[in-house]
Amino acid sequence: DPRLQAISEAIRVVPHFPKPGIMFQDITTLLLDHKAFKHTVDIFVDRYRDMDISVVAGVEARGFMFGPSIALAIGAKFVPLRKPRKLPGEVISEAYELEYGTDCLEMHVGAVQPGERALVIDDLIATGGTLSAAITLLERVGAEVVECGCVIGLPEVKCYAVELLLMIVTFQGQC
Ligand code: IMP
Repeated sequence: DPRLQAISEAIRVVPHFPKPGIMFQDITTLLLDHKAFKHTVDIFVDRYRDMDISVVAGVEARGFMFGPSIALAIGAKFVPLRKPRKLPGEVISEAYELEYGTDCLEMHVGAVQPGERALVIDDLIATGGTLSAAITLLERVGAEVVECGCVIGLPEVKCYAVELLLMIVTFQGQC
């Protein structure tokens, strides 16, 4: 897909952020490039338009930058999966392991109904831990996670069951 190169070129890599040794993939420069930003959303929309998806779940924070545009275009609702203590209503929580310590994603109770077909969106998959927690959260309320879509996959980080399409990564089921 010729659009992938423009997307790839619009993503800035910042060495040693947020700590020494990390090559941070910065999608804010992609958001500044209208064409590349639109290509990114369009690729997801082309893929998911006819999959009968009723809910797009975006992972805080960078999943919020792509998820709502995709949801609007495919006729689905958008549900934010947030870090702890951000959502005001009753939540269900799913903890997951980080390199050092744990983190947690939360979702409003009632936002997703049993049987709904869900798509999870984030900017980047590294180990897949964050997306696995998102999948578990949605499955706990009875949703079917059709697929997860990310803008960036890190090929040097091993994530099982990942289908890599250059800078666009999607994977099905549990990671
Ligand atoms: P994983 O759980 O190991 O797959 O890490 C993915 C999560 O870490 C996503 O929510 C990303 O937003 C975040 N993340 C990790 N590295 C980067 C990066 O280089 N740029 C942007 N986000 C990152």
